Amino acid sequence: MDKGLVLLIEDEIQMRRFLKVALESDGYRFVEVGTAGEGLSQAAARNPDAVLLDLGLPDMDGLEFIRRLREWSRVPVIVISAREQESDKVRALDSGADDYLTKPFGVGELLARVRVAIRHAEMQASGRQESVFAADDLRIDFAKRQVFLGAAEIHLTPLEYKLLLVLVRNAGKVITHRQLLKEVWGPSYVEHTQYLRVYMTQLRHKLEKDPARPRFLINEPGVGYRFKDEPGQ
Ligand code: CA
Repeated sequence: MDKGLVLLIEDEIQMRRFLKVALESDGYRFVEVGTAGEGLSQAAARNPDAVLLDLGLPDMDGLEFIRRLREWSRVPVIVISAREQESDKVRALDSGADDYLTKPFGVGELLARVRVAIRHAEMQASGRQESVFAADDLRIDFAKRQVFLGAAEIHLTPLEYKLLLVLVRNAGKVITHRQLLKEVWGPSYVEHTQYLRVYMTQLRHKLEKDPARPRFLINEPGVGYRFKDEPGQ
């Protein structure tokens, strides 16, 4: 079973071995390079379904790689980085990366991220938009703008609904504070992270069984939020 081609750009041999085994045994085809320059040529030559990118490369900053790739390609990019600083993740996502993994990470987490990134890209490419979304007992009817938990309709304010919509349309992916504020409130509100905290708290109280331990609306500290539509993401 071929799940698609993954291009890995990473200079650490051990990490390359680990990723090759993990991805090939799960049914992906795999190509690996050690520099950003080779990464750009392989991305152009092989047309991969997803790119895994180490931010610390010998020849080019990973952020610069993303900016160059995004000039001509929309292939999903998942950043893998040992860097602890949240600002690097945020900058990578704002530069056009789709997701990130912080080293060390497990195989399950890696495979979930790759699966979500490829699924999301396929949905965008096909222009396919489901009119109803469902996960566990949460159901959203986009055409009617109605949200249900089990049989009960949940009433959301227009801003709460818009915020939920952006997260659900990007289910499985982390969306930065900046991206959410821009999408929901507008470009002049990208610094107002306190709005997000307030509205996310409201949404959790309306949608989560235990708002302190959310099932759907996951906080990525210092980075943004992720709507978790399947367990194990
Ligand atoms: Ca490196």
